[in-house]
Amino acid sequence: AKQRGKGNRVRFHDGMEEPVLAHARIGGDLRRALEAGEFRLHYQPIVALGEGQVIGVEALVRWDHPTRGLLAPAEFIPAAEATGLIVPLGRFVLREACRQAAAWLEEYGPDALQKVAPNVSVRQLHDPDFVEDVREALAETGLPADRLVLELTESAVLRGEQVSRTLHELHAMGVRLALDDFGTGESSLSLLRSFPASIIKLDKSFVDGIELDEPGTPAAEARQAVAHAVAQLAGALGLDTVAEGIESQEQADRLRSLGYTLGQGYHMARPMPAELMGEMLSRRAER
Ligand code: C2E
Ligand code: CA
Ligand code: CA
Ligand code: CA
Repeated sequence: AKQRGKGNRVRFHDGMEEPVLAHARIGGDLRRALEAGEFRLHYQPIVALGEGQVIGVEALVRWDHPTRGLLAPAEFIPAAEATGLIVPLGRFVLREACRQAAAWLEEYGPDALQKVAPNVSVRQLHDPDFVEDVREALAETGLPADRLVLELTESAVLRGEQVSRTLHELHAMGVRLALDDFGTGESSLSLLRSFPASIIKLDKSFVDGIELDEPGTPAAEARQAVAHAVAQLAGALGLDTVAEGIESQEQADRLRSLGYTLGQGYHMARPMPAELMGEMLSRRAER
């Protein structure tokens, strides 16, 4: 509730729970869940669009709720952000992703996977201990810094001097930064000047329908134009690109022809529990 400024008057409607109260209620539950260890990470491969080789994995948090089952981030991340619990939750995610990746590297060798990529919220970036948390997570799990990619959204990155300092410190440590959901923010391009990014993730909204070719589908043409421009820009700036949310071979082929070498999406693999991801990496290691 700290976030609510003066002009942000709370209104009640019959039969509707007031969001601050809903967040407070779920906040207590989140705190309990953190202590009880109910959060899990699922992993989704990021693959080379040509050979299908797994080059990295994105870590995505799930809540294994005692009565409601496995919950997706959309069901609890907003409340975690609003209550500030995203900071300890994000710390867990960071630590667990590093621990798991280090374990896979130990078990399957240095070629098993190049990168692990947890998501980082804006609240974490504003936490003065964040750089230290990252340093500690790397030191205590033994994951080399250059295997860690932090996924940040554009809105998270935009704000202020302190965040900028934090990002440059992380960059100097060798940690890679990815701009998530690229193209959906308002100043994607200007951001690239000041932000030490290594990777751009083209948002799924540009991938949806990108394979359509019938004349008179201007939406598809616009998406192709944007996707192509982003790939060229990234190339010129020496950044890697990942196309997100690929759901068909047609989309994968089209993205390749537009200049993308890496992709992620249900067509290649859905997010999966660590055990399954480990099996996938082990099969690769045997080849
Ligand atoms: P995101 O970072 O953009 O992650 C990609 C989301 O797209 C994931 O949803 C993934 O399951 C989904 N996805 C991947 N491929 C496809 C596809 O081909 N089709 C479709 N329809 N969806 C696909 P998920 O796991 O539900 O996560 C949603 C969002 O929640 C993430 O979006 C991210 O913003 C946030 N999130 C997830 N884990 C964390 C976390 O640990 N910390 C924070 N701060 N945010 C997280
Ligand atoms: Ca992400
Ligand atoms: Ca994304
Ligand atoms: Ca997203």
